[in-house]
Amino acid sequence: MFNKILIANRGEIACRVIQTAHRLGIRCVAVYSEADRHARHVAMADEAFLLGPAASSESYLRADKIIEIAKSSGAQAIHPGYGFLSENTDFAKACEANDIVFIGPPASAIAAMGSKSAAKAIMQDAGVPLVPGYHGDDQSPELLRVEAEKCGFPLLLKAVAGGGGKGMRVVEAMSEFDDALAAAQREAKNAFGNPDMLIEKYLTQPRHVEIQVFCDSKGNGVYLAERDCSVQRRHQKVLEEAPAPGLSPETRKAMGEAAVRAAQAIDYVGAGTVEFLYDVDGSFYFMEMNTRLQVEHPVTEMITAQDLVEWQLRVANGEPLPLQQDQIKLRGHALEARIYAEDPDHDFLPATGTLRYLRTPDENAHVRVDTGVVEGDEVSIHYDPMIAKLIVWDDSRERAINRMVQALEEYRIGGVKTNIRFLHALADSAPFRNEELDTGFIGKHEALLF
Ligand code: ADP
Repeated sequence: MFNKILIANRGEIACRVIQTAHRLGIRCVAVYSEADRHARHVAMADEAFLLGPAASSESYLRADKIIEIAKSSGAQAIHPGYGFLSENTDFAKACEANDIVFIGPPASAIAAMGSKSAAKAIMQDAGVPLVPGYHGDDQSPELLRVEAEKCGFPLLLKAVAGGGGKGMRVVEAMSEFDDALAAAQREAKNAFGNPDMLIEKYLTQPRHVEIQVFCDSKGNGVYLAERDCSVQRRHQKVLEEAPAPGLSPETRKAMGEAAVRAAQAIDYVGAGTVEFLYDVDGSFYFMEMNTRLQVEHPVTEMITAQDLVEWQLRVANGEPLPLQQDQIKLRGHALEARIYAEDPDHDFLPATGTLRYLRTPDENAHVRVDTGVVEGDEVSIHYDPMIAKLIVWDDSRERAINRMVQALEEYRIGGVKTNIRFLHALADSAPFRNEELDTGFIGKHEALLF
């Protein structure tokens, strides 16, 4: 196993990785920005090095400095976490060129999934079901219009280079198409530097169900069941759970096998997530593959009793997968709520300030808190405003929800506005308890939630 690794990230995920690495006897090098001088991940690490000013572009995105620090500190591998450099092909290549193990997939696999249209073409060849639509290179307005007509309405225009729920536009009728296309291309050009669009049938009440896959460097692949992330606001996940309520074992198997096929089609290594849209009739369609550890990975850990960061470290070290498919057993139900510094009364605007008072629920076999902050810390404008992830587990969904509701009641944060009250209303609502899940959940039940 590695003796020393560098964690090229901050916040809860940096702390999360350090925790597992320490348990395995691996020493950890942290990097930090000026704003994070006193951050929890720095305190937890064995060594820490300053990258630069607060802005990500001058700190956590400085691939050159991070590689230099890895080399001078003797770190054998770099864990990129999620966000920042985690899906950056050049960074993965630079690690390789400097004889540092990138704890993630090969650069070629990151590149293959970096474009939504190229990814769809690969998945089609691998026999993975796709949302019907158009994902070709020809972007002439005439052709796109013909393809839109073929696809039917409502349809979704999606930026090929999009991410984070941005660059999407629903089009209800042909009469709106030209204007919508021009506007979507303009937005995509500004946000991602690439105006290319793909067209998808817009599913009106789908669920977001994603499969956790894992592959080792010997070509073996497994799936660790699914997560339901249908509760979203502006296409961003708010509450996640595993397993997905009501999913039959046959569908789980079919989705899991399709996801492993998808990963193997691009010679994947490490942790990955294949996202599907899931329709009421049990059909499912590939949406995209994320080539990193996801924010919501803990719910999978809770129902499989596995440590996915440990799996990542072992696989990156060249070891085979810790378990074979038939050894992966599911138990109970897990939920995760993302606790954000934001103001639900003012359109969820990110909130900033000092965490003057912080009281987390007691952690035990049922309740887990993944966080990168302690009382007294500053929540700044510079980074993602997530304060913590609250994860609960119990032997049934109903009991897990009760745990979540109770834990949210125990969670106290003073000094910064948070979405805790909103999460509580969400988890405790009748439609959520009744498994009435689809990606329009929050919009549909606003009256109950605010
Ligand atoms: P991003 O990479 O920006 O997160 P995704 O392709 O993963 O974009 O889609 C994000 C969310 O948008 C999905 O979870 C789902 O809620 C919604 N969505 C995406 N494609 C469709 C579609 N064809 N029909 C309906 N909803 C969709």
